[in-house]
Amino acid sequence: MPHHRSTKIVATLGPASSSESQIVALAEAGVNVFRLNASHGTQAEHAERHARIRAVEDRLGRPLGVLLDLQGPKLRVGTFGAGPVELAIGDSFRLDLDRRPGDARRVSLPHPEVFAALRSGLDLLLNDGRIRLRVRDCGPDHAETEVVAGGPLSDRKGVNVPGAALALSALSEKDRSDLAFGLELGVDWIGLSFVQRPEDILEARALIGNRAHVMTKIEKPAALPTLDRIIELSDAVMVARGDLGVELPPEDVPGLQKKMIRLSRAMGKPVIVATQMLESMVAEPTPTRAEASDVANAVYDGADAVMLSAESASGRYPVEAVRMMDRIVRRVERDPLYRRIMDADHPNPEATAADALTAAARQVAETISAAGIVTYTTTGSTTQRASRERPTVPILGLSSRRETARRLSLAWGVHAVWTDDVANFSEMVGRALAAASQAGIGRPGQPLVVTAGVPFGTPGKTNALRVVTIDDGAAPQVGAASEAMPALETAPA
Ligand code: PGA
Ligand code: MN
Repeated sequence: MPHHRSTKIVATLGPASSSESQIVALAEAGVNVFRLNASHGTQAEHAERHARIRAVEDRLGRPLGVLLDLQGPKLRVGTFGAGPVELAIGDSFRLDLDRRPGDARRVSLPHPEVFAALRSGLDLLLNDGRIRLRVRDCGPDHAETEVVAGGPLSDRKGVNVPGAALALSALSEKDRSDLAFGLELGVDWIGLSFVQRPEDILEARALIGNRAHVMTKIEKPAALPTLDRIIELSDAVMVARGDLGVELPPEDVPGLQKKMIRLSRAMGKPVIVATQMLESMVAEPTPTRAEASDVANAVYDGADAVMLSAESASGRYPVEAVRMMDRIVRRVERDPLYRRIMDADHPNPEATAADALTAAARQVAETISAAGIVTYTTTGSTTQRASRERPTVPILGLSSRRETARRLSLAWGVHAVWTDDVANFSEMVGRALAAASQAGIGRPGQPLVVTAGVPFGTPGKTNALRVVTIDDGAAPQVGAASEAMPALETAPA
């Protein structure tokens, strides 16, 4: 049993990684959460991937999270009549609502919301930021621009307007269809792309309800002024450096990554660092030094998870990329400096019984060198708070709800396990001991720190903390724990 890894790995599935044997290999290499990217592929393809992930989950007996990442309101130019055009610095170029095919002087941009938000002097970025157009003059249905950075432009290339908050709905028609599809499949996380304002999350959540958790991708400068509120309303956050780095100068992204990680961690929301982490492994079996350093730094920053995109979806070395990430993460987590950084940034517990007990559990566990902290959770919220503590010992997150265990597979330090329903504390301790032994956490004679809400089945009511000892046989411990907690077990909520 290799040492427990706290920082999680998210891997995108795509043409290079969608067979059942490839998904098994990725999971065995260390993937905790699989990402289905709605920007690519058909719903039928994603449904097939989803079914395979669930089959692999059953086969391996450990929960695997699934994130369906919606494309979001991505802006695109129309098409060109005679193939790609070349825009040169100083050229004039017009964007308008005219649906006719474009040429070297104009092209359609079928988004009236953009023209409504433009003003002269604003820049539009095309083709992943390679082309920059500066608005000289504009109206409700057109913009005359000057090419500030040139290059080739072809059909349906993406458009970014970093300087303006656009009156676009956070969910396009395609997103609504993909969302309904994903909820029907039973994905664990819905990724919201190009979120600009807190209302975007509320709008999505009204459709999602509690059928999935909401992961907000921060990739628009327009989201930054209300970042706190946006994170507060989200269940998890993705530092989506790809689009963020198109809309902002590259030198702005590293500091924002640190800021988003700190804020998310303070609020106890899992945060993923994404995009180009091991980019050269799309084509090569080893990463550059800078890429290895990037993954390591995201871990040192305190991220819950690091993510692979093209590396695992369409690259030549998906499994090698996961193994490489796993090695880098483990190396950082062994570094005493990493522990010092985690402790220095430690957020204070909030003034709730659950948070106080969770903080105490960490302290007890570290003081007595416990093998781990066990949380028994219905919704996952208690376990999430334990993860926020960043304890030095693994957190066993036990839940009788599969979807809770799957969602927890993203959280830092959590070894998520699903168990049968338990009726009382002693049964729960029995399950915890069995799960710890199965996960290779602890040896006989070592203590485990257990938190739970009693009576059982009342979410968000963590009110009990116990220390139990791992024994060769679990039975005597179970008896001891059950005798110690009779009043609480039967007390009404
Ligand atoms: P994407 O999001 O891969 O869906 O574009 C991530 C990013 O922009 O970094
Ligand atoms: Mn993006």
